[in-house]
Amino acid sequence: MVQSLGDDVWWYDLTGVNAALVDDGGTLTLIDTGMPWHGDRLIAGLIEAGFERRDVERILLTHYDMDHVGGLSAFERTDATVYVGAADATLVAGDRSPPLGNHKGAFQRLSSALVDPPELPIEPLSDGETVGSFTAYHTPGHTPGHVSYVSESLSAALLGDVVREKGGQFHPSPWYLSYDTCDVRRSITSLVERAPPFEIAVPGHGTPFERGGSDRLADLAARL
Ligand SMILES: [Zn+2]
Repeated sequence: MVQSLGDDVWWYDLTGVNAALVDDGGTLTLIDTGMPWHGDRLIAGLIEAGFERRDVERILLTHYDMDHVGGLSAFERTDATVYVGAADATLVAGDRSPPLGNHKGAFQRLSSALVDPPELPIEPLSDGETVGSFTAYHTPGHTPGHVSYVSESLSAALLGDVVREKGGQFHPSPWYLSYDTCDVRRSITSLVERAPPFEIAVPGHGTPFERGGSDRLADLAARL
């Protein structure tokens, strides 16, 4: 159910979408939460890794999309705090609706009917802010508030959907799933320039890399 990617980092393969669990210096941190029906699998994975539901203190979201925020409800009535990029935070909180004027926004508007705002505290993150050992890098394009999280001490990056893995390499978020593909390309290049090197790289979709993550990302930036 969960697969270790290195010391203190586990990968959830939730059939088509990824989430991750990190013991971040003693603070248990979940990164993304899968689809609305993935709550039981998230909790089973926690137990498999030696933890319990109540041990999760932080939930870092890479972005607002049903397949990444759907499982949040499984952590209601715990002490977990949700962190998400500022431009997506109001969508997660249900304070506004996704815009119909953008093809991706319209898709989000339809799927938002399936996801209720979680009864959990939500902390908006700006570019460069840190949560535990993770730095949030604003990587817009797939969604306006998309962030990727990089921890130098864990040598791990949770990239979200700015990229996806297929055939052993990273690819940029495709047009039909993105608000703005120019922003996607800029975000990938900027992340390569700004983030420290990392071994483990977990994309939102596809198979994570246990080694050479930042090199794989740099390879993609060179192909853009
Ligand atoms: Zn996704």
